[in-house]
Amino acid sequence: MEGQSATSLDPIIALAKRRGFVYQTAELYGGANGLFDLGPYGVELARRIKERWWQRFVLAREDVVGVDAALVTPEVVLKASGHVDNFSDPLIECLECHIRLRADHYLDEADADTWQQRWAAEAIKQRGIGEGRARDEAQKAWEQFARTGELACPNCGKVHWSEPRAFNMMFRTQLGAVEGAGSTAYLRPETAQGIFTNYKNVIDSLHLKLPFGIAQQGKAFRNEITTGNFLFRVRELEQMEIEFFCKPGEDEHWFAAWLQLWDEFLKTDMGLPEALLRQYEHPQEKLSHYSKRTVDHEFRFPFGWGELTGVANRTDFDLAQHQAASGRPLEYFDEATRERYLPYVIEPTMGVGRLMLAVLVSSYREYPQGRTGEGEAEYVLHLPAHLAPVQVAVLPLMKKDGLAEKAREIQQALVVKGVVARYDDTGAIGKRYRRNDEIGTPRCVTIDYQTLEDGTVTVRDRDTMEQVRVGVGKL
Ligand code: ATP
Repeated sequence: MEGQSATSLDPIIALAKRRGFVYQTAELYGGANGLFDLGPYGVELARRIKERWWQRFVLAREDVVGVDAALVTPEVVLKASGHVDNFSDPLIECLECHIRLRADHYLDEADADTWQQRWAAEAIKQRGIGEGRARDEAQKAWEQFARTGELACPNCGKVHWSEPRAFNMMFRTQLGAVEGAGSTAYLRPETAQGIFTNYKNVIDSLHLKLPFGIAQQGKAFRNEITTGNFLFRVRELEQMEIEFFCKPGEDEHWFAAWLQLWDEFLKTDMGLPEALLRQYEHPQEKLSHYSKRTVDHEFRFPFGWGELTGVANRTDFDLAQHQAASGRPLEYFDEATRERYLPYVIEPTMGVGRLMLAVLVSSYREYPQGRTGEGEAEYVLHLPAHLAPVQVAVLPLMKKDGLAEKAREIQQALVVKGVVARYDDTGAIGKRYRRNDEIGTPRCVTIDYQTLEDGTVTVRDRDTMEQVRVGVGKL
């Protein structure tokens, strides 16, 4: 049977919760908007993604090294980088019902489909109305907007908005017990600044020559005005970024090179199909304050195309800002040409959560009548084997007669060889297969009475469901 992809995020959210990938933060207390916790399999999937990335872009390269900077960032750093003044989104408030929205999300005339989807999603969230009705209303609101320029509120339907105002998205805190100048700090809104402020330290410790990159994986925090689409727009996110320092003039070459590497990583390492990916070049007038050129990779999520990754040419903006603000020279001395200059920086970046969501979406298939076409609905994550939270499930047919002991022995032998193998003896064998299909386990190894006699086991393939008998030694 051909499996079907998800047409909305709902079945993916349901599977993620049911099978222990992702839970809503503080669900016990009604949940917190824009925050999620990873469950036992989610943490494994995220680790595999991050480890693959680190392997490919740090360990396998001579020209990239890693750092792990503090999350709490003193205000001076983010003042110099421009975040204190510029890291904001335009906020509008409905003066009738007081919901707050991101103005640019609702006024993007160029893309009626995206606008309507967002309006409808907001209406569903705010008012709990059905999808069909929300879509009809969004269509009407769009027609009115196109006709009159007046935007209806997705919550109350009235047209009575505040002027847009800049809402800074950083979470503010203070260092130590004394409030006031000098103690203000923020949870970092991106991992990049911790790299720029360490750029000189890293050169001095490792005597690196241009071009070279500094990579970082870690949390970043953005108090997004509206969150939604599950892991897509959250307030606490995880990024994987590289700041690649190069000689001015070589920046365009390195921009193209990193864009290509990002493309390969998404397709080859993450297994994302070409048909679900496209590149988006930011028009000049929409570039961030620091960027000379930005190209995103977008992924086709069930709710529409959304940014997955970005490559930006940050020029020497950040180093120049930090040099001026700190009064410390950050220029690079080029021994070959005897010149001093501030390097240009190419920044390839991606978010772990969005990537995880894309991997889940692209590998998810549902089979409404089961995979044989004559049973109950089945759900399978056809994950690339190297990303699967469990690579091999080791299943004793029965718990008794020495089968469990034998299975544990085989599981341990696999673990010693570096395979992520899990022992599982709960429920009927068919149920265990289906549970493992749902978490994307590529192989199940079943231990039965014959195993005790001749040392063979059954290996079942997740995708073809074929079962073959092999000797334990061949596993
Ligand atoms: P967007 O335009 O969607 O707000 P952005 O352009 O601000 O994103 P960047 O600052 O380029 O995003 O951040 C780098 C990466 O971090 C993004 O490509 C995305 O994968 C991830 N990311 C950014 N914001 C969020 C968020 N609120 N939730 C989840 N991931 C995010």
